[in-house]
Amino acid sequence: MIYPQLHFTGQVWRPPYEASSQLLQITSGCTWHKCKFCSLYHGTPFRMSPLSEVEEDLKVISQWQPRARRVYLTGANPFALSYSRLMDVALLLRKYLPHMVSFGMFARVTDIAPKSVEELKNLRHMKLDSINIGIETAHDETLTRMNKGYRASDILEQLSKLDEAGIRYNVFYLNGLGGKGKGVESAVATADVLNRLHPCIINIVSLTIFPESQLYQEVINGTYVEEPEIERLIEIRTLIDRLKIKVNLLGHHVSNTVPVTGALPYDKAVLLHEFDNAIAEFPEEELKAYRNRIWHL
Ligand code: SF4
Repeated sequence: MIYPQLHFTGQVWRPPYEASSQLLQITSGCTWHKCKFCSLYHGTPFRMSPLSEVEEDLKVISQWQPRARRVYLTGANPFALSYSRLMDVALLLRKYLPHMVSFGMFARVTDIAPKSVEELKNLRHMKLDSINIGIETAHDETLTRMNKGYRASDILEQLSKLDEAGIRYNVFYLNGLGGKGKGVESAVATADVLNRLHPCIINIVSLTIFPESQLYQEVINGTYVEEPEIERLIEIRTLIDRLKIKVNLLGHHVSNTVPVTGALPYDKAVLLHEFDNAIAEFPEEELKAYRNRIWHL
């Protein structure tokens, strides 16, 4: 028997909590491709899937998963597509997957800017219920240094629009991104911004620098010094301590030397205690050796 194949290009990423979602490619690669630390879509230029290709895939999915309830649209930032293009995709989803309850995707902060709150509400009405955003930090100095293409004030402004439109969002915090000596500042700045927003999940990932990234060259030539492992733990402890909102923390990613999972504010005391113990007990060299053994995220 020959199985029909869906169109997927390059490496496909999705958050861990989208493991049961039906994946559908509407873009590949990233529109930005300039963050210094990033090697995720190395070698995959940005491409918008033609609607005919999306429809072809949906015909296959409607045969093999006719009762699919959740769809995750793939690519680094499919939310970069225009409002009208996303509405076209939403209409196709509705046509081919009548049992679908919701869909989601990754977005950059800057992808939200061209969309009005009214347009966001319309997308919500078409079952876009959540997006995942790699804010990384709200520390302006680090955002600029890493070439993220936005500032903390943009995070606040754009994610507030999602709050207003009723679209849930999960953010990614990149522990260690500021480099040696910048962790606490990064955590404080990020908590200050997130305390004014309503993220559902803060995903915590710890910076691991791979040779394909620009940042790797800066490490080699000595212009960027990685944040030591104990400092990284102090950074996460600071973030947890400073957060005042109700939010889920999800940090069991391979890059985290100490996993973090909990719900704030309920688990705050326990989490802080765990980090205090780890900071007091784990030798820097052992944690560093662990990171050196990570060869892929
Ligand atoms: S971190 Fe995200 S926005 Fe930046 S280059 Fe990588 S995929 Fe694109």
